[in-house]
Amino acid sequence: MFNLDNLLRNNIKNLVPYSSARSEFSGKASIFLDANENSYGSPLSKWYNRYPDPLQLEVKEKLSSIKHVPVPNIFLGNGSDECIDVLYRAFCEPGNDNVITTPPTYGMYEVSAHINDVSIKNVPLTPTYQLDVPAIEAAIDDHTKMIFLCSPNNPTGNSLHREDIEIILNNYFGLVVIDEAYINFSRHRSFVQELAEYPNLVILQTLSKAWGLAALRVGMAFASQEIIEVMNKVKPPYNINQPSQELVLKALDEIEQVNETIRQIVQEREALAGRLAEISFVEEIYPSDANFLLVKVKDARSVYRFLLDSGIVVRDRSKVILCENCLRITVGTHAENQELISKLQEIG
Ligand SMILES: *Cc1c(COP(=O)(O)O)cnc(C)c1O
Repeated sequence: MFNLDNLLRNNIKNLVPYSSARSEFSGKASIFLDANENSYGSPLSKWYNRYPDPLQLEVKEKLSSIKHVPVPNIFLGNGSDECIDVLYRAFCEPGNDNVITTPPTYGMYEVSAHINDVSIKNVPLTPTYQLDVPAIEAAIDDHTKMIFLCSPNNPTGNSLHREDIEIILNNYFGLVVIDEAYINFSRHRSFVQELAEYPNLVILQTLSKAWGLAALRVGMAFASQEIIEVMNKVKPPYNINQPSQELVLKALDEIEQVNETIRQIVQEREALAGRLAEISFVEEIYPSDANFLLVKVKDARSVYRFLLDSGIVVRDRSKVILCENCLRITVGTHAENQELISKLQEIG
């Protein structure tokens, strides 16, 4: 059975979190002399002299109405990368526990594991980039605290089969972390409406991709209230800075504009795939539910070099398992994609 207490690190079970001035006093006052802030202001015309809301309630309320997820089920991190790190620090005993990842996939799961001295069990995807469910089940042991699934997957672009994810959610009692960084570009449904079904489900999303706000560093985790409470205890107190909170609040009002951009990117992705298919040395263009294409070419290294010399940088993924001779190409603006295609046509 699932029991969060069995998953938590011992030191975290008993952790008394840092209590900031801002979290101890939440009433109304006009003079704040409790946080050693600078009442004289700052060199900026808008001062930014006060600490931001440690729990980002205004931002979460707006996100709650967009995502249809209650505020107590939302955690905000300094990018999803911080959400990943906080999960490791809350649940994985350094030198003792392990997590499962399914390469080829997002590199931060492994880097963050190494930083936290947590071992990684790599269970590669199948040749069609789907989960090898029996191999995942075989890899699980008593110290396996989390399984990271990325859907749509980076760098392959495809979505994982929903039924496979459900089998894992139903049969494994550690945390199943589904990274949905690219979900807005996908035809498939998010798992955010399934939180009530699965106490072991954690969903990661981000404002860095579809929302176009990578510079603000805001990522989201959606999970049960008890998981979110643990994450809030472990995170740095003021992990989302004030300008980011303000700008996110503004941006979240523009959902129509964002949806229009998503439509354009998806359309441009399909057009780009069509143009790439006409190029002689392109061997395969993998179907994508994301804002990038994984493209297999004859000689990835030399194509990468040639593009770089032309001022176009793509991602060389040819050293990655199951991605031999593959480049990962982000869908750009129409003009950028045109430029890319005309450079590739120069090669042959
Ligand atoms: C880009 C990306 C993220 C986003 O990370 P942020 O830290 O929120 O910018 C998360 N997961 C995957 C798989 C990604 O490709």
